[in-house]
Amino acid sequence: MFDKLTSKFSSAFSSLRSKGRLKSGDIEAIGAEIRAALIESDVALDVVDKFIARIIDRSLEKLEEVNKGINPSQAIFTIVNEELTAILGGNSRRITLAKKPPTVIMLTGLQGAGKTSLAGKLALHLKSAGNTPLLVASDLQRPNAVTQLQVVGASIKVPVFAPEPGNGVGDPVSVAKAGLVFAQEKLYNIVIVDTAGRLGVDQELMNEAIRIRDAVSPDEILFVVDAMVGQDAVRAAEAFQAGVGFDGVVLTKLDGDARGGAALSILEKTGKPILFASTGEKVEDFDLFYPDRMASRILGLGDIQTLAEQAKRSMDSATTSRLEEKFIKGEDFTLTDFLAQLEAMKNMGSMSKMLAMLPGAGAIKKQIENFDDNELVRTQAIVQSMTPIERNDPKVLNGSRRARIAKGSGRQVSEVNNLVDRFSAAQKMMKQMRSGKGMPAGMGLPAGMARMGMPAGMGMPAGMGLPAPSPGRTAPKKKSKSGNPAKRAAEES
Ligand code: GDP
Repeated sequence: MFDKLTSKFSSAFSSLRSKGRLKSGDIEAIGAEIRAALIESDVALDVVDKFIARIIDRSLEKLEEVNKGINPSQAIFTIVNEELTAILGGNSRRITLAKKPPTVIMLTGLQGAGKTSLAGKLALHLKSAGNTPLLVASDLQRPNAVTQLQVVGASIKVPVFAPEPGNGVGDPVSVAKAGLVFAQEKLYNIVIVDTAGRLGVDQELMNEAIRIRDAVSPDEILFVVDAMVGQDAVRAAEAFQAGVGFDGVVLTKLDGDARGGAALSILEKTGKPILFASTGEKVEDFDLFYPDRMASRILGLGDIQTLAEQAKRSMDSATTSRLEEKFIKGEDFTLTDFLAQLEAMKNMGSMSKMLAMLPGAGAIKKQIENFDDNELVRTQAIVQSMTPIERNDPKVLNGSRRARIAKGSGRQVSEVNNLVDRFSAAQKMMKQMRSGKGMPAGMGLPAGMARMGMPAGMGMPAGMGLPAPSPGRTAPKKKSKSGNPAKRAAEES
């Protein structure tokens, strides 16, 4: 997500960091560098200029004070972070439910923006929060839009109101109206109306959207927009705002090659906040949009909070509490715990997406992209081939035990060794984290996440097929041949 922008920001700040005391010329220079990066990322020019002016003004104003501190570049970084958060929306806004149900949410946007997919994602999200949504199929234009909504509705067990077949047949306004009446009768508390888009903005499209709007008086009109189209997204947003109007924005396809132009320009250009983000084709690939987290990702600090939330969602509460308790009591993180976490990680979806949320992920981008999700399955097989005693105390893993595990899991002894080595390193890191020594300064790993055993569970060090991020995290290799059960096992095999 916004990889190029992130790497430009990090190179701008690394040159600033090397400066020590800062002069006004340094501020102008980083301003120019960030400006070029934003323009290259397709952010609207007037938005860029205002943004850069604010950063430069604030930085120059504070320059004297900043230079008195021990880390002047960090102070500038903080200003940029604050301004980036502000431009992305400041405090995140959420959907407000109507006092008198049902709450009507109407989705608008161009064809292919991801409205129908989003309807399913939003319905699932609202259902998980205890609501009873109804999907209404008012996109009667796009081929198969009605069927697509029915399929997604069935997959998440949310009813779909679809009295017309679509594909050009039926009146979308009557369907929307009848859908609302149906929801009132059946006591659904939220109605999500999917509407038709066109390949470009045209008056016919706008008139249809306006008629649907006037028929159902939505509490929220959400403009769904493909983040990959950059400034075109902003132009479409402006047209929709002038036409049907909207209350909030949903950015889709953030998993793709989006450069950041849409995300960074839309609020300034339309005055409407981004509420949700769609990050993939699956119905679970959906997040609330948090400006501060997005700013953090753009600046290369990762998005640990979202990661922790996703982990928490995927792990059953009994496992989470057990791990929390262990962490608090200072007990060792064992391979049994690791196995529970592997299960949870499989539920969390694509590892590459999760790893990309780690601070500094940009530096291991290639490895992240190449991560093979089957590695989870292979690692799980190795741990499952261990006895409970071995899982709880990997020190008992002598050569013959390792050879047996390798055979049982259909893997090489070297893979078993690798897993055990990395697991020990992870265990050590957990201990350091518990004593507060483990995290690099300023990373601010939330305590909740540490308690969940995330760092080890994330598998970065624990034999998940990724290279150990730093040499310090890999267990040192012993030179002595005879004293090393791992090597002995490898030889024996
Ligand atoms: P609509 O015409 O606005 O209803 O668009 P659709 O919901 O049919 O989406 C158009 C295409 O984009 C479909 O192939 C979706 O699977 C895909 N899509 C939607 N959202 C995302 C997303 O966040 N990421 C990716 N990669 N694809 C998406």
